[in-house]
Amino acid sequence: MATPVYTRCKTCATATTKRCHGCSKGVDSAGLPAITYYCGRDCQRIHFKTHKKQCWGANARRQLYRGGQFLQDVYFAFREAAFNLLVYRVKSEKGMLHIYEPPVFTTGPAFFAFPDHLVSDSKDKKAILSYCNCTFASAVMGEMVQKAFRGIANHNAIHEIQFAPKDGIGRIVCHEGNEINSKDYAHEVFRVVLKDAEYILDLAGAQYAQHRAIVPLPQYLSSYYRPFPPPTVSKLGHKGGWLREIVDGDVRGIAATCDPCTFPVYYDMVKLMRLTVDDWERKQKTTLAKVLNEKQGIFEARTGEVLAALTTNIRAFAATWKVPEGPTFESVAVPLKEGSRGGRMTVKTKGYVGPEKFFEKYCADVEYGTTEQPTEQDVVAEAAG
Ligand SMILES: [Zn+2]
Ligand SMILES: [Zn+2]
Repeated sequence: MATPVYTRCKTCATATTKRCHGCSKGVDSAGLPAITYYCGRDCQRIHFKTHKKQCWGANARRQLYRGGQFLQDVYFAFREAAFNLLVYRVKSEKGMLHIYEPPVFTTGPAFFAFPDHLVSDSKDKKAILSYCNCTFASAVMGEMVQKAFRGIANHNAIHEIQFAPKDGIGRIVCHEGNEINSKDYAHEVFRVVLKDAEYILDLAGAQYAQHRAIVPLPQYLSSYYRPFPPPTVSKLGHKGGWLREIVDGDVRGIAATCDPCTFPVYYDMVKLMRLTVDDWERKQKTTLAKVLNEKQGIFEARTGEVLAALTTNIRAFAATWKVPEGPTFESVAVPLKEGSRGGRMTVKTKGYVGPEKFFEKYCADVEYGTTEQPTEQDVVAEAAG
């Protein structure tokens, strides 16, 4: 055990090591430990009226920061399973990351293995995984964002919003294949409004060298991004709806730069992720939001097992897709005919089963481990009242 930290009682300033049990693992707006100390029950009771709000906030922020990290981990697992760039060369130069794709889109599997042999830095890997992928991150992660932040931010307190990267922050240039400089595009993120402040959940910021999942809004604006003109703020789930509309045949929302091969796959993968998390919640008799509030050992074990299950399932599922013979990148990038199915460009392989059947067949039998309660001998003051 660490040496006890002596600090002052919030009420009477006596030296003490006892802390409010309610928020003993809470964090401040920067995600750092924020602990309130009391010499004893009487002093805690006196201060409770003032502290009540802070106590809630400290715990809400912990759920926010932990949840943000978890969501980003899930997003990267998803993106690696559904990686659709055929990168053959990576070059880092003057803070820019150059990636090279063949000029002609190759047919075959819908996705490619991430080129781990070309990238030694895990931050570069995340940058490449998130390159031109922020809209999809919002589309595929919306449901899970809501699950993770249940109890601290309801549906109306989470928005999908766009910012423009500031000059000088790291970025990616892609050559030959998909010649898009991600600096020229709006960056899609989530805004989470807690009772005390606004935060940005940035799942795909690594392409701009912004690697943190949660950043307080003022810091986000001063350090990384400026508001994108004109401002577009949508309800949580808007991008998920956009993905569904395209898969249902309304292709007006597809940008010329988008590769429509991935739309129906992403859409089915979202379903599979939902089935996986629901199954885990049912078997472990818990919820994602609850687990984010658990003690350190339980929190890590539980989020680790659901992340592992999600990774295994979506990887296996992604392997059941392929791209039809023929199209070059250019032909794939042309928007499909009005009224045709977005899935037209992606051929389902023989024996393809949808996400529901796939889950039933290959994923539903998983058993999750149970974790012992970690022994934690915090010196805590009893809760007041
Ligand atoms: Zn006191
Ligand atoms: Zn407290």
